[in-house]
Amino acid sequence: MTRCRLCGSAALASVVDLGATPPCESFLAADRLDRPEPAYPLHLRVCTDCWLAQIPPLITPEETFEEYAYFSSYSTSWVEHARTFVADSVERLALDPDAFVVEVASNDGYLLKHVVDRGIRCLGIEPSVNVGAAARDAGVPTLTEFLSPDTGSAVRAEHGPADLVVANNVYAHIPDVVGFTQGLRALVADDGWVSIEVQHLLTLIEENQYDTIYHEHFQYYTVASATRALASGGLTLVDVELLPTHGGSIRLWARPAEVAGEPSGRVAEVLDREKAAGLQELSGYTEFSARVAKVRRDLLRFLIDAAERGETVVGYGAPGKGNTLLNHCGIRPDLLAYTVDRNPYKHGRFTPGTRIPILPPEQIAADKPDYVLVLPWNLRTELTEQLAFVHEWGGRLVFPIPELSIVEANS
Ligand SMILES: [Zn+2]
Repeated sequence: MTRCRLCGSAALASVVDLGATPPCESFLAADRLDRPEPAYPLHLRVCTDCWLAQIPPLITPEETFEEYAYFSSYSTSWVEHARTFVADSVERLALDPDAFVVEVASNDGYLLKHVVDRGIRCLGIEPSVNVGAAARDAGVPTLTEFLSPDTGSAVRAEHGPADLVVANNVYAHIPDVVGFTQGLRALVADDGWVSIEVQHLLTLIEENQYDTIYHEHFQYYTVASATRALASGGLTLVDVELLPTHGGSIRLWARPAEVAGEPSGRVAEVLDREKAAGLQELSGYTEFSARVAKVRRDLLRFLIDAAERGETVVGYGAPGKGNTLLNHCGIRPDLLAYTVDRNPYKHGRFTPGTRIPILPPEQIAADKPDYVLVLPWNLRTELTEQLAFVHEWGGRLVFPIPELSIVEANS
């Protein structure tokens, strides 16, 4: 194990070891099934000096992002989340048409298109070639690049400093957290704002969300460790919002240290909650591993019992995190015949490691299975509604996390 990537300490304590799994976005085409698949250890540790939770950076973002299968626009609730965020930010920061907004990891332009619609100048920085091309097709100016201090300076030199830099769902995805943060500082105006959304380690631990640990998520933040990470690039945390996205995220509002001032009362409140949960000492991390093992036993018991009764179980969704769950539990097509996904890129492919076929969503209504196991459990409200049709034939929805729950009709 290497040293902590934020503070350089060698004091890294084990939190949970999920074994070795293939990269979670490496969906297999049929002609790859007779070939070997590399598997990489997935072992979460926490630095007992700065309390940044992290996994070893075994798979580089370059390998992941050349052709990325995740298009944000396929999630209805995600698109709505982006629309609301843009509306609120324009108001909060009083952004007028002269403003300049940069989004890092802008994906297919799902967020910046709302900025374009308001006539505000913007630029997306997106490393994935195929996803960035989709953004440009949708009218969102997009640069195909990873953010580094050099990229940040080059964009600032060409386009001017940004009044708002948005970095949603990327701060966990970059192994060089210090260089990335310096890149954010290079982009943002000296009196500007940086807004970052990232999963919250507090809810990850409290609600057993261990399937959100995967190779592309190199680190897992508390507000305390995020504050240290931001400071490494000259940014100071000013405010924080708690969001329900991804089962529990934090939206960090940061500014250049010189203009930041005192953090809000909300920052102090969340820091207090994290401290009360023991996340500034080892006690908050020690029982997580046993609770993860229980999720696995409960899900396997359910699937094996259903198979013994001759009942059919299929999956809904093929998100990256579903693959941590499927691989850790060891679920293959004998227990889960197939899963479905709205993203046509995944149709006809197979889940990495567990090799479960991925079909179009219409297959569920055609087959009328007894149970539908929902892999993107974080979209529970949206999907309980969208999948209510399975109750028409007496089918039930199954959510594996935070603990196994089965949703009957009218419940
Ligand atoms: Zn550290």
